[in-house]
Amino acid sequence: MTVHLADPALPGAGAVWRPDQSRHLLMNTVASQITLYTDASSRIDGPVEPGPALHEWARGVAAAGEGSGEEAWVLAEARRLGPDAYPTRAFYGRYLHDCFRRVVAGAPAHVTVRVHRSRAVALTDAHGTAGGPQTLQLADGTRLDGLDAVVLALGHVPARPTAAEARTAGLARLHGLAHFAPANPADADLSGVAPGSTVLLRGLGLNFFDYMALFTTGRGGMFRRTGDGRLVYRSSGREPRLCAFSRRGVPYHARGENQKGPSGRYLPRLLTPARIAALRARGPVSFTADLWPLIAAEVEGVYYGTLLTALGRDAERAEFTARYLAAGASGEREELLDTYGVPAGRRWDWERIAAPYKGRDFTGRDAFRRWLLDRLRADVRAGARGQCGRAAEGRPRRAARPAQRGPVRGRPRRARRRLPPRRAGALVHAAQTPSCPSARRPAGSRRWPP
Ligand SMILES: Cc1cc2nc3c(=O)[nH]c(=O)nc-3n(C[C@H](O)[C@H](O)[C@H](O)COP(=O)(O)OP(=O)(O)OC[C@H]3O[C@@H](n4cnc5c(N)ncnc54)[C@H](O)[C@@H]3O)c2cc1C
Repeated sequence: MTVHLADPALPGAGAVWRPDQSRHLLMNTVASQITLYTDASSRIDGPVEPGPALHEWARGVAAAGEGSGEEAWVLAEARRLGPDAYPTRAFYGRYLHDCFRRVVAGAPAHVTVRVHRSRAVALTDAHGTAGGPQTLQLADGTRLDGLDAVVLALGHVPARPTAAEARTAGLARLHGLAHFAPANPADADLSGVAPGSTVLLRGLGLNFFDYMALFTTGRGGMFRRTGDGRLVYRSSGREPRLCAFSRRGVPYHARGENQKGPSGRYLPRLLTPARIAALRARGPVSFTADLWPLIAAEVEGVYYGTLLTALGRDAERAEFTARYLAAGASGEREELLDTYGVPAGRRWDWERIAAPYKGRDFTGRDAFRRWLLDRLRADVRAGARGQCGRAAEGRPRRAARPAQRGPVRGRPRRARRRLPPRRAGALVHAAQTPSCPSARRPAGSRRWPP
């Protein structure tokens, strides 16, 4: 059996994790929680194939030193990478490539793997009939004939601009501005963005942090720790001026320091696999009507449970949480909160999560800026104290966050702040890569809150 692998990028790593990208771009998962291998806990049809998790692999590389055959930067990162640190994407790419090599090396004798570092450009039925062998054409001219099976595992592919994006690009051209359409920041050529020019960054999600890193530390800026432990940014003078905005106007919360080890995670009590299977069996599933109430109750349950512990009432936690999750509607839950004496000021408020500036009046930009910076500092301090256990008990909101991944999105807010002057250098879409399926709202779906 011959397996042909066609990908212009390094095999294993692929385009997203290619090791030759900027090392200012990080993964969003800590090193100890990443593995490509399986163990006894894996429920899979195929055989269990143990192997090193990313952090173990890094330790192995560090121990082997030069003998590992890895480049100096890989060795350096392997040596400093802690289990709860966020690796660079480039480093993860080296791990993935190593996994690929192990898989190929361990393949049975009847399997030959051939790598083609080229893009697939056409796929046809070899004899013009479906179900028979197929032919794949690669950009480098290679033709792979007589293929019995073809697996397309293309990942995020570039998307055509939407009408709104095309209009924005057109306007930018008209005004002589650079415009970067939504894309993986690692692929964007930012070399034309001059130091001191103004860059408008649209979106404050993951890609925003990529662009911020590329424009700051990626341009020679450095963080130095002061005597009182604070980090202070020292500019290289090559940075552009960043103006960032989003619908909510505030970045997402900082992640709490990992206190869950390599495998600890919140296990849903309402949105369980069984419940999901039952919903699927019933028919079309509505996020708003079917899923959201379960997710919301789950998050609130963790919050109130942690709050009780923080208030020294840990003994009541298990019973409260069970009753809270079992309660059918918000009215019943409010009654339960009254019964347990949860003060009004400490009740979970989704509106406040979506719009943390709710109910505040800002006298001007400076007032908003001060509020935002205070909030970010407090958020970072809380994140540094962790996400669970005693450290998080004083901050039940953070403890609830792992139960909250994903579905909570802010209310749409229009950025009301003025755009920078016309000499602005570039408009960069830092919003999630559009080709990522999760970035496209399914037709008919609604924003939260409904
Ligand atoms: C900017 C960015 C950051 C991300 N960060 C994280 C993160 O921190 N943590 C996380 O868990 N996930 C992250 N992801 C999600 C990530 O895409 C997935 O974790 C994972 O890479 C998906 O694996 P995949 O094999 O499906 O696709 P990919 O890893 O995208 O691999 C698809 C491969 O197909 C190749 N390809 C596409 N078209 C062709 C063609 N015509 N011919 C030949 N080859 C082709 C591409 O070159 C690519 O190498 C991120 C994604 C992006 C875009």
